[in-house]
Amino acid sequence: MRLHITNGNLITPDGPLRADLLCDDGVISGVLDAGTRVDCDERYDAAGKLVLPGFIDPHVHSRDPGNNHKEDFDHSTRGALVGGVTTVLEMPNAIPPVETLEVFEQRRAYHEKSAWTDFGLWGLALGESNLDQIGPMFAAGAVGVKLFWGYALHKETRSLIYNLDDEPPENLLMPPPNGQVLRLFAEVARHGGLLAAHCEDKDVLATSQEQLGHPIESYEDLLAARPATAEATTIAIATEFAKATGCRFHVVHMASEAGLEAVRSAQRRGVPVSAETCPQYLTLTDQDYPRVGPVMKVYPPVREQRDQDALWNGLNEGSIVSTGSDHAPHTVEEKNRGFATQPAGGVGCETFGPLLIDAMLRGRTTAERLAQVAATETAKLYGLYPRKGVIRPGSDADLVIVDPEASRTVRNEELVAKQPVSPWHGVELRGAPVATVLCGEVVVRDREVVAPRRGRFVRAEHAAASVG
Ligand SMILES: [Zn+2]
Repeated sequence: MRLHITNGNLITPDGPLRADLLCDDGVISGVLDAGTRVDCDERYDAAGKLVLPGFIDPHVHSRDPGNNHKEDFDHSTRGALVGGVTTVLEMPNAIPPVETLEVFEQRRAYHEKSAWTDFGLWGLALGESNLDQIGPMFAAGAVGVKLFWGYALHKETRSLIYNLDDEPPENLLMPPPNGQVLRLFAEVARHGGLLAAHCEDKDVLATSQEQLGHPIESYEDLLAARPATAEATTIAIATEFAKATGCRFHVVHMASEAGLEAVRSAQRRGVPVSAETCPQYLTLTDQDYPRVGPVMKVYPPVREQRDQDALWNGLNEGSIVSTGSDHAPHTVEEKNRGFATQPAGGVGCETFGPLLIDAMLRGRTTAERLAQVAATETAKLYGLYPRKGVIRPGSDADLVIVDPEASRTVRNEELVAKQPVSPWHGVELRGAPVATVLCGEVVVRDREVVAPRRGRFVRAEHAAASVG
């Protein structure tokens, strides 16, 4: 099977290049002068379009299995594919969570049946109770292990408990104390792996909530109850642990200027700390709340304009190396509940690419940096490079073709998600992914899936990731 993409503006590691791209049997086989005549099975005319490496969304909670009424892997990966994502990294907190090698292997086989994109798997890090599973999960190809720092786990259902007051203490596996977390860092370092965490210090949150003195009723209350200090505090502790152990530590969904400052100061000292942010933190602020409404509720919360500006600076200067959607759906009914009682999180993997493309076309970043933070650097971080994340011969032919002249309005009713309720409903975005290429095949054209399901599991190679 040979695919010939003609006349596109390729975003390569060496910069933009007007050229043709040849893909043979799923792999990029050549970059040719524009207009070169070659025999092929399929030709795609990309004149006037940008050709980027297929996006990698490293932060997806498909709720599958366990909460399939909220979302499932079929819907999340199909939505992602429509939005230009070719690889999804699935978070470990479905039910049961991926806390052992056994569940890891089960989950891999289970998701292989419904994957529209290629996918990698996260493992869950619980501290002492599954320390012996960290090595086996990395050996099986885990992209990283995630610590929901400060969150308890229900002993029977194995679901994460966001609010400790919701359950009697005897039902809870309490979050590991920091001494155990330090041991976890050492264990991940021993296996050359990557440790990521939700960073909001639970004690800072508890005291802030107490000081507020009443339940959260407004957006201001939410920001007061979950201050940026909570994020920066956990990052500061993690930095010391990373320094002490040599463990690579990754801050997921970083939302604040204070968090960024903590990451920067660690990086300046040579500590192996990296960070991700998400479209919600790059495109929304507290000022959007009156328009968007309660559906904007995510943890950590979307903050102020200065935080958003700082995150863009961090992304452009290199402190932030990766972006992810934090796709974490709840039902439409749940998301339409009152602000105080509705769960945090929402759909995002389908709008992830389009929102970043829009921001790029508005000048907040360059096409080259977009390719890095949505593909290349993400692939490197998670041990998938150079197989994934880059336009160069020998890499998987995973691409997103973008029309910079198009514009599209996000509409809940057009989303693939099982529970389509987006904070960007009604927002017009510049540019649009007009085709997704997975493994050398055009699988999406103009939002329509045009090829059978063909997603495969991709194994992370962390030792190899530091080379090249
Ligand atoms: Zn998440």
